[in-house]
Amino acid sequence: MPVRVETYERLDEAARALASSRTARFLGGGTLIMRAVNAGDQSFDTIIRARDANWSAIRAEGDGFVIGAGVTMAAVVASRDLVFLAPVARSVGGPAIRNMATIGGNLFAASPYGDFAAALLALGATVNLAGSSGRGIPIDDFLRDRERHATSLVQSVSVPRPRDASAFRFVKVSRVKPKGISLMSIAALLPQMGGRLQGARIAYGAMAPTPIRVTAVERALEGQSLDIATIERAAAVATEGIDPPTDALASSWYRREVAGVHLKRLLSAERR
Ligand SMILES: Cc1cc2nc3c(=O)[nH]c(=O)nc-3n(C[C@H](O)[C@H](O)[C@H](O)COP(=O)(O)OP(=O)(O)OC[C@H]3O[C@@H](n4cnc5c(N)ncnc54)[C@H](O)[C@@H]3O)c2cc1C
Repeated sequence: MPVRVETYERLDEAARALASSRTARFLGGGTLIMRAVNAGDQSFDTIIRARDANWSAIRAEGDGFVIGAGVTMAAVVASRDLVFLAPVARSVGGPAIRNMATIGGNLFAASPYGDFAAALLALGATVNLAGSSGRGIPIDDFLRDRERHATSLVQSVSVPRPRDASAFRFVKVSRVKPKGISLMSIAALLPQMGGRLQGARIAYGAMAPTPIRVTAVERALEGQSLDIATIERAAAVATEGIDPPTDALASSWYRREVAGVHLKRLLSAERR
């Protein structure tokens, strides 16, 4: 089936076109959507693209940054402002993929992809839709209702800056180094006040259909100092309430077995 390509100068025009058709898809960097075209995916017949420069800009705002949905992983790695996100972006694919893959596309990438989205979830980002005058959507809600947003165009993501460099940590666990796909990724925001964790946010990628918060671990960390006893307690509930998938990379059992080990290593990093 032939695929039509529609190009718009402005994001709001592209957003309207996308919203008006169930069989249209937006083109980010194309690393997944063009693969679908080549594989003969029949679920869409129109590709919508936009040339709007705002879509790939990074700007400081308040206590954080607004990152255009069209910003690529390579641009994140190169950004002086987004140093805290560079290790996350660097973990996505190889150089060719990073040159194309956008942060907007990562929000929609099916598991086991979505490493960057997991980091944004831990950071408590907000997703801003094109053509919407309302406030942004908390990323927790956006990911939970991702299907509902299939015809929405993500314009940008607002990301708070972590209080200090050690307050945000990320690890991608894969069997093939350095470009393997995640069998899980873990992102942790660990803000401390007076030596106690306050408002810790832990997110997993590749452990559910979308990146998820790990609330049992967050509860184990809240109000505690990040010492060995706390880390042990957190690791003991690493998969509580989570039903990891089985796929070509790992079984659900394996993911369950290793999650606590990797979480423990990530939380212990400061102590090494
Ligand atoms: C070889 C290979 C290795 C990969 N490795 C990784 C990896 O290590 N980690 C990882 O997380 N991912 C990985 N990916 C998956 C993918 O490259 C990334 O998730 C990437 O960020 C997707 O972004 P994109 O711009 O290429 O998306 P596209 O292919 O352009 O789009 C993907 C989906 O998102 C939608 N979309 C894109 N942008 C928007 C927007 N702004 N608003 C609304 N909808 C939008 C599209 O319509 C489409 O449905 C890999 C892919 C390949 C092919």
